[in-house]
Amino acid sequence: MQSQQPTTVVVLGTGGTIAGTAARADDNVGYRAAQLGVDALVDTLRGALPDGVTLETEQVAQLNSKDMTHAVWAALAHRVAAHLARAEVAGIVVTHGTDTLEETACFLQRLLAPAKPVVLTCAMRPATSLLADGPQNLRDAITVAAHAGARGVVAVVAGAVHGALDVRKAHTYRLDAFASGDAGPIGRVEEGRLRRLRDWPAGTALGLAVLGDDAARWPRVEIVASHAGADDGVVDALVVQGVDGLVVAATGGGSVHEALEAALVRAQDTGVAVLRASRVGAGPLLPRDDDVLPAASGLTPAQARVELLLQLLARRAAP
Ligand code: ASP
Repeated sequence: MQSQQPTTVVVLGTGGTIAGTAARADDNVGYRAAQLGVDALVDTLRGALPDGVTLETEQVAQLNSKDMTHAVWAALAHRVAAHLARAEVAGIVVTHGTDTLEETACFLQRLLAPAKPVVLTCAMRPATSLLADGPQNLRDAITVAAHAGARGVVAVVAGAVHGALDVRKAHTYRLDAFASGDAGPIGRVEEGRLRRLRDWPAGTALGLAVLGDDAARWPRVEIVASHAGADDGVVDALVVQGVDGLVVAATGGGSVHEALEAALVRAQDTGVAVLRASRVGAGPLLPRDDDVLPAASGLTPAQARVELLLQLLARRAAP
C-alpha cells in the first residue's frame, strides 16, 4: 500500500532581511528589508529541495519585522491554520524578519499549538549579500517542515531548531543570532537531515476564535523596564491612558525596583493585568515568598507581552 504521508510544504512570506536587498553586495547594514517576494526566495534554492517535497508559496505580508502589527499577526495566524487543515500539507514555513521573530513564534504556538510543524526562518544578511544566509536557513526550515513527526512552532536559524517559547534573538550581528536560553535547541539540521535533541513544543491551543475579527480592538499591553533610578511615572501615566496589561522587564531573577513595583501593585489593584519577565535573557524567575506580581518564567519580556495579550484576549472571549 502507498504511504499517505503529506508532502506539501507551504512557504508564507512576511518580509524581513531574508527578503532584503542592498545596492552593494558588501553592505549588510544599509540595505532595505522586505524587497523580494517569497517566490524569489524559493527560486534561490534552485531545486535543492528535500526529495519528494512539493512547495507552495503565499505572500501574507511584506514588512520589516520591527514594524510588525497585530493585524499582520491575525492574518498570518488565519493563513497558517487554513493551510495546516489541508491533508496534503506536511508543514508550514514562515519567512520573517529577525527582530520580532521570537514574538511571532510565541504568538503562533500559544494560539495554535499545531500538531504539524510551523517553522519560522529568517536571515541576518540580505538576499544580495556576498554570502547570504537566507537560502540555507530556508532550505533547513523546509527540511524540518517536511519531517515526519515534527510538530509545533519552531524557528530554524543557522542550523539550529529552537522551540517557540524558548527562542530569542541573542546577538545583533552574528549569523548564529538566536538562542534557546537554558532549554537549548530542539535539534540541529545537518546536511539536510534533522538530528533531534529533545521533544517538540507542546501545549494547549487558545484557538483562533480568541482573536476576534478586529485587531485594532485587542487589549493594550505595554512593557515597562525596571532599572536603576526607576520610578512610578511611566506606569501611572499608562494607567491614566487605560492600559489593559503591563509586562515589567525585571532585573535578575525577577526583582523590580521598589518605586516601580509600588506603581505596578497599584495598577494591578485597579484591574490592570501585570506580568514579570526577566530582562537577563536566560534562566528562570525564582519564586519568592514575598512575590506580589505574577511571573512568566522562561519568556523574554517581548514574549511575556504576547502571553499577556493572549490571556487578556482569551478572558475577553470567554462566555
Ligand atoms: N529589521 C529586520 C527585520 O526584523 C531585521 C532582520 O530581518 O534581520 O525584518
